Amino acid sequence: MKLVFLGTASAFPTPTRGVSCTALQHDDGSVWLFDCGEGSQIQLQKSTLKIGKISKIFITHLHGDHMFGLPGLLCTLANGQDPKMLEAKIIDIYGPHGLRKFIATTLSLSRSPLAYRIRVFEIIPRSDQYPENWNDWEVDHSLEERFKLPQEQEYNKIEYCSKIKGWKLMDQNNLVVHAAALEHRIPSFGFHIHEGETPGQLNVAKLQEIGIKPGPLFGKLKQRKTVEFEGKTLKPEDFVGPSIPGREVVILGDTCNSDELLNFTKCPDMFVHEATMENSLQEKCIEYGHSTPKMAAEIAIKCGAKFLVLFHLSPRYKPIDDNSEDGSAMTILKEAQEYISSKNSNMKVDVAHDFKEVVIIRG
Ligand SMILES: [Zn+2]
Ligand SMILES: [Zn+2]
Repeated sequence: MKLVFLGTASAFPTPTRGVSCTALQHDDGSVWLFDCGEGSQIQLQKSTLKIGKISKIFITHLHGDHMFGLPGLLCTLANGQDPKMLEAKIIDIYGPHGLRKFIATTLSLSRSPLAYRIRVFEIIPRSDQYPENWNDWEVDHSLEERFKLPQEQEYNKIEYCSKIKGWKLMDQNNLVVHAAALEHRIPSFGFHIHEGETPGQLNVAKLQEIGIKPGPLFGKLKQRKTVEFEGKTLKPEDFVGPSIPGREVVILGDTCNSDELLNFTKCPDMFVHEATMENSLQEKCIEYGHSTPKMAAEIAIKCGAKFLVLFHLSPRYKPIDDNSEDGSAMTILKEAQEYISSKNSNMKVDVAHDFKEVVIIRG
């Protein structure tokens, strides 16, 4: 599993940073995209990732710096792929209510047919996520039936579940994804990706020593079942190593308060949080629904995160290079480091730049 940061700026793309787009590459090569700001497809082409490997797209919220690149990417995502394979290809797209209308409107007005099918899963925000002035803009976020895209295979609404204090988005192939509400100027979400345990290693040499050859008994032991062999009872704990815990990754959208993530995370391997402005600008930052390095580090420590990566920096902060001084992303990094050491935490921290890759190791 690997994270690839494709766009790490807030607001608008600059010559040195793209806007929000983060890829999670799984061990089988498939890629999930988190946000798709303007120009994300160029960033993808410059990266080590293959666009054709994208299987799911998650949008944290409907601000332009997180989704203006989506229609363009959807149009080119199938370029160069085998038409036969495309017949079976389905891309799942998750995001807040209104996302389906955005996709259908942009693609239908531009008469852009897709060579594959899509399934849209809209997260229906809780009523308290809407700002007081929400109705100042008369926008209907629902899509009229006549605008439905012919390539839309399926549409699902995902409602808030008070029992789990969040939204359950998917549970497949040993991966569970939840969304938690974040405080921002419009409904925004943080995604929690949790991989299930992997069965421990089978001690093949020990089994062969007592005369068991590879076959059904191997499978049963691996599934932690007790088996009988030539009158002897074989217990799985004697032949199978301990299960390997799954990885836990948290990728958040814009926020000035991400406490609801505490309902999901136990000890995330990777915690990707925005840090739009430095600590001295906290008041302004909160006014715009954003976080400072201190605010991000505070919640990451509360969640017990092992590694915090900060992103979504204001374009004023140039990426860190050999000559970096205060005023660059170095300011953001230093402020987070200072807070973390003041709390005697050993959480690692870094600031992402475009094309930064972080490997997440199992166990
Ligand atoms: Zn943003
Ligand atoms: Zn935003």
